[in-house]
Amino acid sequence: MQLDLKQPDFQAAIPILKKIEAAGYEAYFVGGSVRDALLGLPIHDVDIASSAYPEEIKRIFKRTVDTGIEHGTVMVLDHGTGYEVTTFRTESRYQDFRRPDHVTFVRSLAEDLKRRDFTINALAVRHDGTIIDLFDGLTDLKNHQLRAVGDPHERFHEDALRMMRAVRFESQLGFHIEPATKEAITANAPLLKHISVERIAAEFNRLLIGIDRRFGIQDFVTTGLFAYAPALAGQRTALWHFSELPDTTFSGIASGWSALLFMLKLNPEATLKAWKQSNDLIAVVSQTVTLLAKMPTPTAWDLYTAGSRAVAVAGEVAVLLKPDFDQQALAAAYAQLPIHAKKELALTGRDLIAAGVRPGPMMGKLLHQVESQVVAGVLPNDPKKLLSAAIEMSRERQ
Ligand code: ATP
Ligand code: MG
Repeated sequence: MQLDLKQPDFQAAIPILKKIEAAGYEAYFVGGSVRDALLGLPIHDVDIASSAYPEEIKRIFKRTVDTGIEHGTVMVLDHGTGYEVTTFRTESRYQDFRRPDHVTFVRSLAEDLKRRDFTINALAVRHDGTIIDLFDGLTDLKNHQLRAVGDPHERFHEDALRMMRAVRFESQLGFHIEPATKEAITANAPLLKHISVERIAAEFNRLLIGIDRRFGIQDFVTTGLFAYAPALAGQRTALWHFSELPDTTFSGIASGWSALLFMLKLNPEATLKAWKQSNDLIAVVSQTVTLLAKMPTPTAWDLYTAGSRAVAVAGEVAVLLKPDFDQQALAAAYAQLPIHAKKELALTGRDLIAAGVRPGPMMGKLLHQVESQVVAGVLPNDPKKLLSAAIEMSRERQ
């Protein structure tokens, strides 16, 4: 079988493969781009594998960058685009169930494909479209199956992250894990504790936003993997409920995490810290979960303090939780707020000082009171009216 390399990213990289071959080495497209192209999906990140050693690649091309030379990866620069070319390698020395700290370069494509995780990720394609399929990956691709290359127990012992990758690809592609592979994940799930949180999180995030997170989450639960992921042990039943939400795809990880943490009733800050997620994500998910707790009738102040991103995310999640939720009405209510941020308030501390109010905690309280009344629509956002209202309030407070 041939792969039609019509996608522009392949087309642009074909001269690189040809040049490596002309120099007497082998070169192939490998990994996710081959898999996705065969599935008729758009591709990203064209990966190239070659029998040429890094030094040899650097001799063939004028402009290269050592992006990961210790793993055998050299970036070839061509007309402003960078292509990662990785030398065929084996990863023979695995320690502690993690990825190897040492790789060995080899000249054999078969050796390189053997170390890959799943048969659908172990296909190689020559510049003329010829597919090299040593592990029956094409059949698995046709049957929408994830199957470990070789003995699944061994493969998960070598690198326990592959088990998370299995459930991630289930969700990303809408595939199923074939029985022997799933059985091996179930048997080896505890090995996940040897994997860094960051790597687990990278896969879990992709599971969350996949087209079929139902499969992904359900196998994450039934295989027992969830019990070795941060902060999720003991959440079997709640995770299962989460998996049964309508299977619309989340627009991003903020929506996925918000829905998950709201349903699991977990503290967003503590949980996402345990998952080593960014402060930015922690902020938006915390705001969203707080707002979700106020549904279906949040006050103007709830919307204002949540902010535009959390309002959008909460709308998306609320419809998922309750299909008749009026997402548009929520967006409209937010849009109609008199102000959306404190900097839009027509009264500042400086105005108050100019009017004779003494700076201090009292002034902060005053501004806050004015802000909340403007947001609630009680006071118009007008400089003169706010100033006189504030002065009135300050007298009342004295
Ligand atoms: P996507 O780009 O959609 O994430 P991908 O298959 O390209 O999917 P990458 O993480 O980019 O995933 O990895 C590229 C390729 O490297 C994979 O297709 C697979 O062949 C191999 N690979 C990646 N991680 C592992 C691993 N932990 N064990 C074995 N092979 C792996
Ligand atoms: Mg990739």
